[in-house]
Amino acid sequence: MSEEPAHIRGIPASTGVVAGPVHVYRRVRYVPDGKLRDDADTDAEWARFEAASRVVRLELDRIAAMAGDDSEGIASAILDAHIHILEDPELRKSIRAGIRTKRKTAATAVHDSFETYVRLLGATNNSYFQERVADLADIRDRLIYRIQHDAQEQALEPVRGAILIAEDLTPSEILELSKQGLAGFAVQSGGATSHATIIARSLGIPGVVGCIGLMSVETANGEEAVIDGKAGDVWIRPDARTREAYARLRRQDATRRRQTQALVGTPCVMRCGTHVTLRANIEFESELGHVRTSGADGIGLLRTESFFMEEGAGTIAFQRGFYEAAVRACDPEPVTIRLFDVGGDKVTDLLTKEANPFLGWRGVRILLDRRDVLREQLDAILDVAGQYPGRIRILVPMVTDPDDMTALRQEVETLQEARMQRGDAVDSSVPVGVMVEVPAVALMADRFTAVSDFFSVGTNDLTQYTFAVDRGNPKVSGYFRHHHPAVYRLIATAVNAADGAGIPVAVCGELASDPDAAAILVGLGIRELSMAPSAIGEVKARLLDAHITTLSSAAMRMIS
Ligand code: PEP
Ligand code: MG
Repeated sequence: MSEEPAHIRGIPASTGVVAGPVHVYRRVRYVPDGKLRDDADTDAEWARFEAASRVVRLELDRIAAMAGDDSEGIASAILDAHIHILEDPELRKSIRAGIRTKRKTAATAVHDSFETYVRLLGATNNSYFQERVADLADIRDRLIYRIQHDAQEQALEPVRGAILIAEDLTPSEILELSKQGLAGFAVQSGGATSHATIIARSLGIPGVVGCIGLMSVETANGEEAVIDGKAGDVWIRPDARTREAYARLRRQDATRRRQTQALVGTPCVMRCGTHVTLRANIEFESELGHVRTSGADGIGLLRTESFFMEEGAGTIAFQRGFYEAAVRACDPEPVTIRLFDVGGDKVTDLLTKEANPFLGWRGVRILLDRRDVLREQLDAILDVAGQYPGRIRILVPMVTDPDDMTALRQEVETLQEARMQRGDAVDSSVPVGVMVEVPAVALMADRFTAVSDFFSVGTNDLTQYTFAVDRGNPKVSGYFRHHHPAVYRLIATAVNAADGAGIPVAVCGELASDPDAAAILVGLGIRELSMAPSAIGEVKARLLDAHITTLSSAAMRMIS
């Protein structure tokens, strides 16, 4: 048994510093049991599957009820998606055929049927879809466990006050564990945008993901661990000095949380009188409540890729409902809707493997190739814009060529004219902006001002493309340096071009949610920042205390 302290660097997933006893979690794995015996009854086997499926459904309902309102609806939206997977008619058909025709055991039929989907999603090389594999695997493992244990529920061991160490965690596990009083977690796999991470963030449970080598560290239950979810540090058996340093950090963290909570209704006006607009980044309809509770000035980035996750969610009616709900949630502030940043009108279109997907068919490139998808989305947006004039802005992702913006704007104009001719309500001046997330666009920003009503800088992709570092790959996360002069110089170029043309420029990437980085961005001339609602309080606290001359000098030092 080792007594040496171990330190592992992972990807920050959910902010907060916490210490406690370790609980090593190993999920019960599927044991293949292959084919049915010759005399076995396939009807009885199908009935075993049906019974297991009913128990899993009850279990998901129970977890959803347990989650209650704690996560502002995020958890229930994700669990709804799980129930869709569980009850998917195609999957059930495939499982039934596996049992009846191929005479597989119920567990094997479930395993093999899910495997097809897991492989398809896993093969996309797109971290967004790869992380959805965890959702499928969650349902698959629950079903198999219930089948192999006579449809009884699997009880998780109690973890009150513990730091969970695991290979990975599923959304439903994190929810159950949070209800048992889990203090924090560190997992070997996973990325910053996995569903488990999103839920942990919404529940305020500190955590670190992508901790390579974590499960190889010799660790016993009950040993002490410290998690810094903001920096991405995990310590097992910390020495006295590290323990003390983190105890101090924890106290500061608690004070900061109390202070920022008190600032919700305060506008972000700096000591010098400079006003900075702080908006929210939103992905799911269920997150909309956060706009008000965080005191955000509307939505600066409404991601719309979630439509590809839910059945029937991509229809115009569904889209319209989502956009309208967003507009209502931030009345009277605006909503910036980003057009789809994934491919195709359905997931299967995206599954063709590309050698370099991050450099491939993405964002506006897909939208201009798939005009049907683009027109449907624009139609839904323009419809809501017509009902709520002045409240909607359209943001175009992954732009690299001004001609693409011209083509896209032409589509908007054509649809607006058709609306006018039909006598539909029209907001004739819906701003259309470019996402500055490729270095070429930042460098040549002056060429984009003529085709753009505003800029919004996406620092996640801008950093990825500047440093040639995959933003979702834990092996190279140390090279992902968004708080870096290279990134700030690019942003400064975009700000100069925007100022010269008199158009607004915002930052909506993760960088904006770091208080020190936000201060540099304001020093560079940015007056609108958009971030996860949970980050608004701290950023505001940092800016309220600052003076623009100090921030401008700090920004100049950073880029010189
Ligand atoms: C970004 O790239 O910074 C951004 C905000 O967009 P996404 O993270 O959705 O790619
Ligand atoms: Mg991006």
